[in-house]
This record gives sequence, structure tokens and C-alpha cells, in this order.
Amino acid sequence: MAEALEQHATPSEGPLAALYEGTLDCVHCGLCLPACPTYRVTGRERSSPRGRIYLMRGVAEGKIPLAELVAEEAYLCLGCRACETACPSGVRYGELVEGTRAEVERRGLRRGRAKQVEHFALRHILPHRGRLRALLALTRWGQRLGLDRLAARVLPARLAELVESAPRLPARREPLPVSAAARGERRGQVAFFSGCVMPELYGAVHHATLRVLAANGYDVAIPADQGCCGALHAHAGDPAFARELAADNVEAFDRPGLDAIIVNSAGCGASMREVGHWLPGLGEGFAASVRDIAEFLDEVGLRPPGRLETRVAYDDPCHLVHGQGVRDAPRRVLEAIPGLTLVPHRDPTSCCGAAGIYNLTHPEMSQQVLDRKLDALAEIEVDYIATGNPGCLMQLERGLRERGLSARVVHPVELLDRAYRQEPEAP
Ligand code: SF4
Ligand code: SF4
Repeated sequence: MAEALEQHATPSEGPLAALYEGTLDCVHCGLCLPACPTYRVTGRERSSPRGRIYLMRGVAEGKIPLAELVAEEAYLCLGCRACETACPSGVRYGELVEGTRAEVERRGLRRGRAKQVEHFALRHILPHRGRLRALLALTRWGQRLGLDRLAARVLPARLAELVESAPRLPARREPLPVSAAARGERRGQVAFFSGCVMPELYGAVHHATLRVLAANGYDVAIPADQGCCGALHAHAGDPAFARELAADNVEAFDRPGLDAIIVNSAGCGASMREVGHWLPGLGEGFAASVRDIAEFLDEVGLRPPGRLETRVAYDDPCHLVHGQGVRDAPRRVLEAIPGLTLVPHRDPTSCCGAAGIYNLTHPEMSQQVLDRKLDALAEIEVDYIATGNPGCLMQLERGLRERGLSARVVHPVELLDRAYRQEPEAP
């Protein structure tokens, strides 16, 4: 493939021409290959970052047609961006793959019922709070009556797997307040991004986040007119809709006197930091204000939490460690809890296979990627596995349950919250 691409003219039009310059940053060194989950599973060059960049460049040069093979590889990629962290040449792989997917969608290369369902869910359910809430209320009701187990027995195999692997929804929603007041000496004011799925599935994590911010002296505003961040739309080749959602959030968070916009979902945070590129001239200030909760607490300095005797493994969400470059802050914040032992494991920065809706669109590959993660987690003895992203929380919860591993999966901020509710250690 490399030889075929050696002689090239700079393309100015045609599919993926706009990505051509970006593909030239790749010097074909292959250092990213061991970090790539799909390469690790398949051993195939075309399913590696380098192989995919070859394909993109070949399309941009008009030497490879933009057809099913390129589309298939663009979507087999998890979008985990581990290759960006590994790359010494600064290749912006996330932008390349999202640009490729947008062109694949524009040309209608992904078809079929699954694609239609995905499009409907992303455009007509996820960004509409009332519809999403109604759908999840129905699911919650069905799970409580055991209808999910019944449905799994009568549905075709693929659908039955989906129903069986769906996360157990909390028994009831915990609505968020519109604000939370600082406790103790006030240090400042932040706004909180709640997202679309998190309040429905992980309301307890949101409440823990608000309490931890208040315990650290911050007033918290939760703008009511905020909405979905658009990450899943951008990953699914719909950047125009992602930009619309981002523009609404820029407006919702346009408030004076904010120290930061706090996010506790790594996937949302990574896309919110891209808003400066998505909306030039409008989104830069918003993007620069975004902070992951652990990153923010680490930056401003944690007030001393109480004691928590427990053993915890931290697992990096891809969109925090690779997408936002936040690696050490969550570990430092957890280690600041007296009594907490942070237990390392051998594969913390590789993808768990959740990757947005990847575990629904590519269940076999997702499971193989998850299995490698579970192999590493099975080697350690811990009470909790902490990770800061809803997709990872769900994927790891399911994986541990199916493997029969007893550790519980939590968001790091839940452990902090529990520690603050204990008495702080005497100095
Ligand atoms: S984003 Fe992840 S899956 Fe995709 S090429 Fe990079 S390392 Fe591989
Ligand atoms: S590490 Fe970077 S430069 Fe090297 S092959 Fe991978 S993407 Fe290309």
C-alpha cells in the first residue's frame, strides 16, 4: 500500500481532500500500532491507525475509491485516540477519522435498518430531554416487571443480546437542583454541565459532584437550557448537528464570573473542548473554560477529605486520557483520600470497548476489547474500579458482572463524596 502512495499530487478537491494535509503528518513509524485496540485484536494493518491513515490519504489522492472498505474501517475504529497519545508526529487522528465518517455519511455508504435506528436515536431522541426520559422510564418499568428477561427469550438473537446487556436503570430518577451553594469559605463559582444521558442513568454521580464542589467552597450553577454535547453525533459522521448542539450550549453557559465549566463525563468533556474548532469565533472561550471535575479539583487544591479505608483501581476513560490529556489528576485526587490505597493494573489506558455506541454497533469487537481489559482487572484485588465516563461505567459494570468479579465500578467523585461525608482526619 505504501508504494502505491509514494508519488502524489496535492489534491484540492474530491473526497477527503480536506484531510490530505493532516494525513501527511503520519511518518509511518508504526509506534501507534501496539496501542490500537483493533490492531491488537485483528493484527491487520488496515485496522491500525497507520493503515487507516493510508486509506484516507489514498482516497484523498484519488488512488483508492471511497467505498465500503474505507467506511468499514472508519467505523471499526473505536475513536479512542490512543494512537494520538502514542504518536510522536502529532497526527490529529480524531479529526481525520471524524472527517472521514462525515464523508462516508454524506455519500450514503452506510445503509440498513441499524443505521436508520442510530440516526433516529441520535437526532430525535438523545437531544430531546422529554423523549429520552420517557423512553428510559418505559425501560425502567419494563426492567422492574422483568419484561426485559421475557423479551430476551422471544426476540431474535442479536436483539436479545442487546436487551440482556442493557444496564439496570436506577429505581428512580434523582432530579438536579438549579444551583448548589458553597460550604465553608467561598472560593468561587462554576457552572455544571449535566449532559443528556448522565442525569437519567447516573443521577447519583451528579449529586455527588455538586456536593464535592460545594464542600470545596464553590457555588454551582446548573443552566436549565443546556443540552446534549453533540459528541455522539460528531463520532457518527454528523458534524453539522453536533455544531448546532454545541452552539446552544455556548449560549446556555454564557454567564459572567464563572471560574470553569465542570464536566464529569469524559466523552462530553472531550467534545466540549473541541467547540473552538467546531465554532470558530464563537466557541473558543467556552472550550477553554471546560474542566473535568478531577482536573479542576486538582488544579484548585482539594480541601482535606475524611478517611476511607478501601482499595481502588483507577481506569482511564479514553476521552479523558487521550482526548483531553488528563492522566494524573484523577489519581492524585483519589490518593488524597486518607486510607485509600490506589492499586495499579497493567492496562489502565486502553479502551474498554464502550466507545459511545460502539458496543451496540460492533458488539463482537467491543467484547474482545473488553475481555483484554477484564483480564488485567482480574489480576488485582480491589473493592472499587473508578472511571469517569458513563459508557465506561456501564461497560465495566456489565463485564465484571459477567466475569463474576466482585469489585464495584464507581465514578471517582463518588469516592470523594463519601470521604467528605466522613469526618476529616485530624491534622
Ligand atoms: S482511535 Fe483507537 S481504535 Fe481508532 S485507530 Fe486510533 S487507537 Fe486504533
Ligand atoms: S505513530 Fe503517528 S506517525 Fe507513526 S504510524 Fe502511527 S500515526 Fe503515523
